[in-house]
Amino acid sequence: MRAPLIAGNWKMHTTVREARDLASGVASGLAGIADVDVVVCPPFTALAEVGRALGGSPVELGAQDLHWESEGAYTGEISAAMLWDLGCTYVIVGHSERRRLLGEEDEAVGRKVAAAASGELIPILCVGESLDEREAGRTERIIQTQARIGTLGLASEQAAQLVVAYEPVWAIGTGVPATGAEAGRIARLLREWLGEWFGDAAAGIRILYGGSVTPETIGEFVSQPEVDGALVGGASLNAGAFAAIVRAVAV
Ligand code: PEP
Repeated sequence: MRAPLIAGNWKMHTTVREARDLASGVASGLAGIADVDVVVCPPFTALAEVGRALGGSPVELGAQDLHWESEGAYTGEISAAMLWDLGCTYVIVGHSERRRLLGEEDEAVGRKVAAAASGELIPILCVGESLDEREAGRTERIIQTQARIGTLGLASEQAAQLVVAYEPVWAIGTGVPATGAEAGRIARLLREWLGEWFGDAAAGIRILYGGSVTPETIGEFVSQPEVDGALVGGASLNAGAFAAIVRAVAV
């Protein structure tokens, strides 16, 4: 009942021209694929061009961040309405790089998730523990707190649209993914907590795994009953590898 989702996070990579070429490669590599939702999240500067390059393909457009206000004196920021205007349907919120390197805190993440949902965008809320937190036995506490504060502004009917990405910080960009079993265990816990907070809506929330996913490892994650797909960083910058990840889920 939950459509699998593969999301590509291009981070701060690609010029507009490179982004257009990558988007065209992804769209043509996925021709004929059904039953998997696919979204690519280029930098803000390339959203319009990537939207054009994807035109007519089922691959959707997403952004990597947004501000919680709808407009105003917030220099450098981008609102949900601006993203929607560009054709975005998804937005990544609370990525660990923003939390860790740019000081984004749980409360801000929660406001952004609420703003995305109110602005007709599907938030992809990222949660995950650092290596230190893991070694200190705090994994569950950290993830539960991030997920709770991150979703506090959502009504149950909005929560049904939510996507949560479990991304252990130590697995991002390191080439050392979590095991499928570990991702499955955290996804089960997340769904239990989401059920306590949002009731039946939790059954519709998609939970992704992210962290060094490749075409070789994706199968291990999506074979877990509570894992509905992946948030992919590095491998999403290669159209062939990204398409192979999607194809592995579609099989
Ligand atoms: C990410 O940044 O969300 C991510 C999962 O990156 P990578 O796949 O490169 O580990």
